[in-house]
This record gives sequence, structure tokens and C-alpha cells, in this order.
Amino acid sequence: MAIPPNVKYEGKFLKAYREAREGKKGVVGTEQQEVNIAKYSVYFFCDECCQAHPLGITIELNDGPPDQASIRDTYTGRELPPQVATLIGNMTQCPNTRKMTSQEDNNQVFLVSIG
Ligand SMILES: [Zn+2]
Repeated sequence: MAIPPNVKYEGKFLKAYREAREGKKGVVGTEQQEVNIAKYSVYFFCDECCQAHPLGITIELNDGPPDQASIRDTYTGRELPPQVATLIGNMTQCPNTRKMTSQEDNNQVFLVSIG
């Protein structure tokens, strides 16, 4: 004997479920995710004079390193945020040799937490 699906009760259940969801509206979704936005100063290792220089850029990140780390170490296996991706290969002047230089290696560009 085939048992017909209990459409009547299913309908009631769906209605109750929907009402419960509606009733919760305004409670669900107000939970705020904890966001820790920190400021970082960006440094790069200069190929011209083999020293680290500030890139003169400050960025805000909510998933940056606690202290300081290279971009590669910070974002291994993760997608680079756009403001970080644009740091790679930025042309800047070496203060020691006065030559224009850029750093394409994301392991030679550093994020330093400044609070
Ligand atoms: Zn330099």
C-alpha cells in the first residue's frame, strides 16, 4: 500500500517554520562580527642598496600579521586583499642610491603593524 505524502502537515510545518523565522527577524543578523582593523606601514627590501626602506604607504587590514611579516608569509594560501596586491612592484626611489626601484617579490615586501 502506497502512503501518500502528508502534504497537509507539511504545509502546516512550513508555515510554522516561516513564522518562527519572521519572528526572529531583527535578532538574527544583528550579531556583529568582531573586526580587528589594524594599521600597517609598508616596507620593502631594496635591491639597489640591500636595505629595507619604508614605501611611504600606510594601509588598514583586518587580517594582517600581529607584529610584522612579509606579504608572502602573511597571505600564504590566502587571496591578497586588493590594497596589498597593489603594493607589489610599486616604483619608488631608493633614498641611498637615488635610483628608482621596485620590488616584485612579495617575500621582500613587509607589513609592519603600527597599531
Ligand atoms: Zn635602497
